[in-house]
Amino acid sequence: MISGNVILKIEDLKKWFPVRKGLFTSLFSKRQEFVRAVDGVSFEIFEGEVFGLVGESGCGKTTVGKTILRVVEPTSGRVYFKGIDIFKLSKGEMRKLRRKMQLIYQDPFESLNPRMTVYNLVGEPLSVNKLVNSVDEKMKKVVKALEDVELKPPEVFLDKFPHELSGGQRQRVAIARALVLQPEFIVADEPVSMLDVSIRAEILEIMLKLKEHYGISYLFITHDLALARHICDRIAIMYLGKIMELGDVEDVMRNPLHPYTKALLDAVPDIIGGKIKVSIKGFVPPSPINIPSGCRFHPRCLKVMDLCRREEPQLLKVGSGHYVACHLYN
Ligand code: SF4
Repeated sequence: MISGNVILKIEDLKKWFPVRKGLFTSLFSKRQEFVRAVDGVSFEIFEGEVFGLVGESGCGKTTVGKTILRVVEPTSGRVYFKGIDIFKLSKGEMRKLRRKMQLIYQDPFESLNPRMTVYNLVGEPLSVNKLVNSVDEKMKKVVKALEDVELKPPEVFLDKFPHELSGGQRQRVAIARALVLQPEFIVADEPVSMLDVSIRAEILEIMLKLKEHYGISYLFITHDLALARHICDRIAIMYLGKIMELGDVEDVMRNPLHPYTKALLDAVPDIIGGKIKVSIKGFVPPSPINIPSGCRFHPRCLKVMDLCRREEPQLLKVGSGHYVACHLYN
């Protein structure tokens, strides 16, 4: 089990988005409704760890990543980066700290300005943050970052535009752009889900190599359990804005406790037998505007009890580093 110094600590993080009312709804309803995208999430990430946040689309995992970096502002809660309460920082202080906390997006084509060359894309953060004193120093740092993401020889790529690169090469440029600032922590939001299967392994290997080489910690956001197993040290399973289960990745995979985790694992096709088990009710989660009472998973759970409809289970420790939010275990 991974342990050591905590680089990031999240306490009871919430992000609720107000629902804009239409003419009809504003006439007949005075109550302000909210999309409870993140609804009380707590966890820690250790130095040098890859922590996976796993769940279906719309479960709130991307909003957690963006709120941690204050790309969106939180509704409530606390996030500490190396002990610093980042929600108390001014915009200027946050801008400085963000050098150490970078974000890699799902779609490199969207995150890279199509009118900029690779040299300008990777070099821009250095100039904006005033981290270089000369053109020569800037070039050296850009070349090093390109080598680190294995865009070799770097000279071949410096003058290329994003549309001249493959999807894998674009994602490497996006990683180099983050890496050039020497970050200590990276939020990687589905970083390989837009890439061909053959390219995914290469990008993941680069991310792991950078972790070993520079001690970078990651929050790895994914909907793909198999991918999480490959790259993560620990994972948290998210459902409708909350964590349902958290633990060592192998522990959770081999011994899943929460009925939702079991359902996700059952839905991964068994490559040898080709079997998929259906162990969940309904195809889509309820709306995050009308979160069910008690356990929010209860309308889809095959093990539901009366208590589940009344009381929300807390995320409690059930084993060494293994936590679960379910009345079957509490
Ligand atoms: Fe199912 Fe009840 Fe556990 Fe929720 S608390 S996952 S409804 S058994």
